[in-house]
Amino acid sequence: MAAYEELSKEELLKIKSELEAEFEQVKAQGLKLDMSRGKPSTEQLNLSMGMMDVLNSSSDLVCEEGVDCRNYGVLDGIREAKQLLADMMEVPKDNIVIFGNSSLNIMYDTIARSMTHGVMGSTPWCKLDKVKFLCPVPGYDRHFKITEYFGIEMINVPMTPTGPDMDMVEELVSTDPAIKGIWCVPKYSNPQGITYSDETVHRFAKLNPAAEDFRIFWDNAYGIHHLYEDKQDYLIEILMECKKEGHPDMVYKFSSTSKISFPGSGIAAIAASTANLKAIREQMSIQTIGHDKVNQLRHARYFKDIHGMVQHMKKHADIMRPKFEAVLSTLEREIGGLGIGSWLSPRGGYFISFDALPGCAKKIVAKAKEAGLIMTEAGATFPYGKDPQDSNIRIAPSYPTAEELKVATEIFVLSVKLVSIDKILE
Ligand code: PLP
Repeated sequence: MAAYEELSKEELLKIKSELEAEFEQVKAQGLKLDMSRGKPSTEQLNLSMGMMDVLNSSSDLVCEEGVDCRNYGVLDGIREAKQLLADMMEVPKDNIVIFGNSSLNIMYDTIARSMTHGVMGSTPWCKLDKVKFLCPVPGYDRHFKITEYFGIEMINVPMTPTGPDMDMVEELVSTDPAIKGIWCVPKYSNPQGITYSDETVHRFAKLNPAAEDFRIFWDNAYGIHHLYEDKQDYLIEILMECKKEGHPDMVYKFSSTSKISFPGSGIAAIAASTANLKAIREQMSIQTIGHDKVNQLRHARYFKDIHGMVQHMKKHADIMRPKFEAVLSTLEREIGGLGIGSWLSPRGGYFISFDALPGCAKKIVAKAKEAGLIMTEAGATFPYGKDPQDSNIRIAPSYPTAEELKVATEIFVLSVKLVSIDKILE
């Protein structure tokens, strides 16, 4: 297929009228499809239903510490849940604190605490004239919403195929003491599915921040969320790497079982140095008497250990893989070679990131909506919801059924083609 840019106006108008007819046909079906949020499908949720049976009214609910999980006690997570999540996050059990049901909640609390009380004795951020965060883009909208909410200035850092542009990160972090953090989704990133290379992780660990209270917010939400058994990305463990480089306190690592068991009803944890965790526990002991230990116990008894969890993730992969492949093959077949969009083929995670011709993303999302397909809002993958190129669109293939996904992707490619032709003809 010839690239659209190379076609004459007449040829493009002819293609456009054919596409419009197709689009009207799909629109007439009055469909309601959603490729907007990275939610597991019902079939995936069903994988964890056994968790409902591991505890019942005759279960012994005493955890390894000898504490009755039905009662108060054990502030920072029961031992068996710590072991499970420590193995999942590839850190020692002593470097982990279990929170409640959401890692985003821990990230919010971490920023809130830094604002009001500072980081390990440094000036609270709210007392400073300016606080800035680096935001690799495209990135996770909810990260950006947290920093925006607290009035933290966000600086875009472009993503490359190996992670954030590290020349820019090193330059900014080492010269500007107002920069207090960076949001990272280092494995199967949201939305591009990129895993940071060894060199990128080494460079992160070697950072020499101008601010003593600078922290890397390492959100490893998709650490074991592979699509393939034989093609998996590997990420260097950052806590150990920072320790080796003499910066043990520079990183907070977050994760949860949201997309392993049940989103919103899983367990979440932070991993960090002993000194960081001491500061976190101090606040935690004021904030709560303890999180949901019954749920921690349920997770620990259901998965048993990391091997159980890894086996479980293979079942998720079997459901997710054909969906990713369906979207990717349609993109390749319908748009490949037309010069109107680019994308990567991730080996894990929850998203495919599509870059349209500049100035087209908002119109594509609006066009798809006309035919009943809801996509993530264009711009959402950038701080303040502003994509300077108006180009990036996040595709979330997990929730729709295979049938729905087929139609949804067809609507999407039709929308991309129609909007791109208009753009080229402008
Ligand atoms: N971090 C990333 C990168 C995500 O994509 C998501 C959910 O989509 C979350 C965190 C939310 O995690 P949790 O459910 O643990 O709050």
